[in-house]
Amino acid sequence: MRLIDTHCHLDVADFDADRAEVLTAARAAGVAAMVVPGIDAAGWGKLLGLCAGDDGLYPALGLHPLSLDRHRDDHLAALEQVIATENPVAVGEIGLDFHAKDADRERQLDLCRAQLALARDAGLPVLLHVRKAHEEMLRLLAETPVIGGSAHAFNGSLQQARRYIELGFCLGFGGMLTFERSRRLRRLAAELPPTAIVLETDAPDLTVASHRYQRNSPAYLPEVLAALAEVREESPAALAAQTTANACRLLRLDVDDVGGE
Ligand code: ZN
Repeated sequence: MRLIDTHCHLDVADFDADRAEVLTAARAAGVAAMVVPGIDAAGWGKLLGLCAGDDGLYPALGLHPLSLDRHRDDHLAALEQVIATENPVAVGEIGLDFHAKDADRERQLDLCRAQLALARDAGLPVLLHVRKAHEEMLRLLAETPVIGGSAHAFNGSLQQARRYIELGFCLGFGGMLTFERSRRLRRLAAELPPTAIVLETDAPDLTVASHRYQRNSPAYLPEVLAALAEVREESPAALAAQTTANACRLLRLDVDDVGGE
């Protein structure tokens, strides 16, 4: 079994003490590749260094909508530059998060719009973080079409999921799926076409039911696969192959390179 964690913040300080052990555990669990999305300009260097040192780690670069206080206007030009020189697999993590009442929506929209344009011009997919803003995001994508991407930790409606799929997107499912109480999300995961689903952990956040209140890890990705197999009544092996193929298609990875034993 070869799984791909399409969204895993392995670069953050939460993993500084035991990153090598986490990677070893993830590989032992069948996670052959991990995509590490960027959060802010200050973090890109560490992220790129980490990915350069490990064949199974793929960088994405972007400015996260929840880190507005750390983004400066010149970071967009810096992003354009690193995209050109560093060959990330995607632009991300970018998006819109309107959950907080005091969210600066205008600035988030401007930042996301600009990064979509960078992705479009570079011909790269995007890793989207969207919370309470799917209609706004679908509008931005209509204005600035990109080749596709992943709507990470998707929690919208089936109708919205279909619109993302039409735009070339997959929907990312993670730890939330492992909770019995996530009824709406589990129903959605059961209804989507198999070609539209990718797996992710969002480690160290959004952990799985078996490790509630603990740090999440890419090593727990098989538990997401198991939950997906359960709700879809399909075999884990078939879903592993399908979701890995989906991630490779989306990120233009060679499926034979992934895991490279
Ligand atoms: Zn994330």
